[in-house]
Amino acid sequence: MKFIVPFRKVRWLALIFILPALLMRSADSFHPPSFREIAVTVDDLPGVKTGGDEAADAVRVSRKIVRVLKKHGIPAVGFVNAARAFPDDADAARRILKIWTDAGMELGNHTAEHSSLHQVSVEEFKTDIREGLRLLKEKMDSKAQPVRYFRHPCLHTGRTLEIRGEIDGLLGGLGLTVAPVTFDNGEWIYAAAYHKAIMAKDRKAKSMIADSYLDYMEQKLVYFENQSLKLLGREMPQIMLIHANKLNADHLDDLLGMLEQRGYGFVSLATVLKDDAFELPDTYTGRGGISCLHRWAWSRGVDPKSFFAGEPEVPSEILKLAGVESE
Ligand SMILES: [Zn+2]
Repeated sequence: MKFIVPFRKVRWLALIFILPALLMRSADSFHPPSFREIAVTVDDLPGVKTGGDEAADAVRVSRKIVRVLKKHGIPAVGFVNAARAFPDDADAARRILKIWTDAGMELGNHTAEHSSLHQVSVEEFKTDIREGLRLLKEKMDSKAQPVRYFRHPCLHTGRTLEIRGEIDGLLGGLGLTVAPVTFDNGEWIYAAAYHKAIMAKDRKAKSMIADSYLDYMEQKLVYFENQSLKLLGREMPQIMLIHANKLNADHLDDLLGMLEQRGYGFVSLATVLKDDAFELPDTYTGRGGISCLHRWAWSRGVDPKSFFAGEPEVPSEILKLAGVESE
């Protein structure tokens, strides 16, 4: 007698034997299902200025960050200060940008020199935008995606609506869309403290800073999730701002793991910018470089004291290690 297992049974047998094996295999890489969305943006390419300023360090930082972004399947945008050069290696910036574009990442303009619109004249800022785009096109690989985004250095968008309008007009004419930030944070302060700990060969401080960084970023993200709920009645997709620095070269994997545990799936900046929230009026002309969630709240006339209350701050011990007075 032939032993024939009906197809339906085969399916069940497969489930019984294969499913546990699949579950076991993925146990160490298990993440809860995504129900939130976030885009990752990395500023100050080809690398944050740190003092020592060696090209080899910047190359290593970009290699490590891009490897981790790829591992998590993230279509990040890197914002470039295209005049940034390394005295010890004239070709380094070009090679660093290629690390990003070879991995399928997109590059955006962050001005040539990282000038703040709150510190230079409108004409100087316009020149820095144009020069940033020209140098970026010259330095990036010819096969890379065309440049379509601009990010204001320090998120400074101008002290009057006239100035903002003038700059927006130039950006529009150059085919550039402003890339705002929802999840703004003091990561740059942690990065400065971390760099100092590396220089001092202080391993204890390094690990304390890294632990505090991950806690702080999670608290800050929870804060912005709640700000979105309060302002919009829903959690909008987030845009995270971080920088190309040694802190992220060493700890980006943990940071992204935290995001995944919070249910975030990674999407492109273009996807997030389709959200209706970006059509809200933004009339903020204060001196701060702030999250657009706060800009919209401000523009709506919400009492800033109560609306912005409870924002997590960088702890004083980190500020001290970084040599920074406040966030
Ligand atoms: Zn910047």
